Amino acid sequence: MSFVWRSEGLSDRNPIAYLSMEIAVTPDMPTYSGGLGVLAGDTLRAAADMGLKMVAVTLAHRYGYFRQHLDSDGAQAEEAQPWNPESVLAREEPIVRLMIEGRQVAIRAWRYDMEGVTGHVVPVYFLDTDLDENEANDRQLTDRLYGGDSDHRLRQEAVLGMGGARILDALGYQPVVYHMNEGHAALLTVALLEQERHGGNVDSASDEDIESVRQQCIFTTHTPVPAGHDRFSPEQAYRILGEDRARLLERVGAFHDGLLNMTYVALRFTRFVNGVAMQHGKVSREMFPDYEINAITNGVHAGTWTGAAFQATYDRQLPRWRQDNLTLRYAIDIPEEEIAAAHADGKRALLEAVKERTGVELHPEIFTIGFARRAATYKRSDLLFHDAQRLAQIARDFGGMQILYAGKAHPADEPGKAMIRHVIELAKHLNSDALEIVYLENYEWRLGALLTGGVDLWLNTPKRPYEASGTSGMKAALNGVPSLSILDGWWIEGWIEGVTGWAIADRDDERGEAASLYEKLEQLILPLYTRKPEEWQRIMRSAIALNGSYFNTQRMLEQYVLNAYFPENAVQSAKVVPEPAAV
Ligand SMILES: *Cc1c(COP(=O)(O)O)cnc(C)c1O
Repeated sequence: MSFVWRSEGLSDRNPIAYLSMEIAVTPDMPTYSGGLGVLAGDTLRAAADMGLKMVAVTLAHRYGYFRQHLDSDGAQAEEAQPWNPESVLAREEPIVRLMIEGRQVAIRAWRYDMEGVTGHVVPVYFLDTDLDENEANDRQLTDRLYGGDSDHRLRQEAVLGMGGARILDALGYQPVVYHMNEGHAALLTVALLEQERHGGNVDSASDEDIESVRQQCIFTTHTPVPAGHDRFSPEQAYRILGEDRARLLERVGAFHDGLLNMTYVALRFTRFVNGVAMQHGKVSREMFPDYEINAITNGVHAGTWTGAAFQATYDRQLPRWRQDNLTLRYAIDIPEEEIAAAHADGKRALLEAVKERTGVELHPEIFTIGFARRAATYKRSDLLFHDAQRLAQIARDFGGMQILYAGKAHPADEPGKAMIRHVIELAKHLNSDALEIVYLENYEWRLGALLTGGVDLWLNTPKRPYEASGTSGMKAALNGVPSLSILDGWWIEGWIEGVTGWAIADRDDERGEAASLYEKLEQLILPLYTRKPEEWQRIMRSAIALNGSYFNTQRMLEQYVLNAYFPENAVQSAKVVPEPAAV
């Protein structure tokens, strides 16, 4: 694929710029909260592997997201995760100044170099307002991911989008494309317009100015949940962004239902928009009928989310899999015993971690289900317990069952917190000789890797159509773990019944969907797992070959290159002229 971007005029100074409120760079840097940040990190890791010229911008989040503690009743407590960017990142010289709420806010950047399998580097810039010259409040602007009130959020978005554009300029970059990962970064477009007008008044920007910005920008929207789209009052917009910018945004239609809506800012100023799975594209077109919205299905970074034993197996059997994830398609030829052995290793590592963290000793032979995700109500982490007696009966009938849960609720999400308490309460009542349910604290990168690499079945029960994509089931697939899931998000594309996993039938209500979940466990999944190990191993293998080879960020980024970053030139690239042979 690399010929596609070699001919695009990309260079170190003219890269693709990628802006995201959160980026999961390493497991030790608490600069992400969940799926959005992991996707951003996985995207950049794929770019580094592929030699794609890209630079990224995010915020330093000096106090991180939060560490989750759960008491015995399941009540969540949150602890800040302070870290020192200066101890692991390189300090960049330029300082840019941005007018926010009538004050000059100074912003500097710290750099992390993300290195790919080929040695190519993607720099990630962490913006930081903790400078002496800033007022106390402004020094805290880049402290906490998704913390503070709505004023704080708008100021943070100004730092990310507008500060991001200015820092890139000050560092000497002239990006050829700007990619906004979710609406948080949408104010980038206003800063580009200011650059277009050489710092002049943006309120009087012409249609040509706006079109020029549009041609440089693309936008990925990530959620069909309306509350996931940031909105601010006109008063906030005028006070925090200033009259000139707010008037511009009002004039171009970025105010919707009387509120400044960051999704509309992004839609109004971009030439390409996409949702993150086929179904999410459709849902987004219904939400924003005036815009053409494409779909590019998410992926995960294969090298990052494959467990140690499977990595060794792939290195041996498919030596180019890290450079070319499509090679995972040939996992279909790996002997069943090797798949089983690699999985047993992942399961052992997971059960050891569970024992270390909780003291609970689980059994490697017993069928183990994993469910880990943000504790948002639409994710319905309690659907599995809809008929608790039936679940307990199934566990008894098939020699036992172990269920591992994890997930944080956003500190302000009371219904999400109630959901965690509910699951923990149910677990207490249900735990027996046959059924062991454990809720693990503090779901983050390492725990996510252990769970998706070590359970026997990955469960996902969102309320349709609210799961835009979901990516943890993709991580599971790379580790030979099939999914049992509601047909929503990526699973509509990844599901082949009895081959890559199983679908929970679409029913009108929770009772019906839970009944389908139990039927699948009782009639298909557990009989196979307990009585036909070879058939089970073949399912594990086809999950890798069919889904691991496709639902990765390498394939995803190739689609961004072809359809979003360089659509016109991608057509030309079909007639690529071979390089002259060496004489
Ligand atoms: C992969 C991952 C997510 C996203 O998973 P979903 O399936 O989209 O919910 C969230 N948090 C962590 C820690 C992850 O590793």
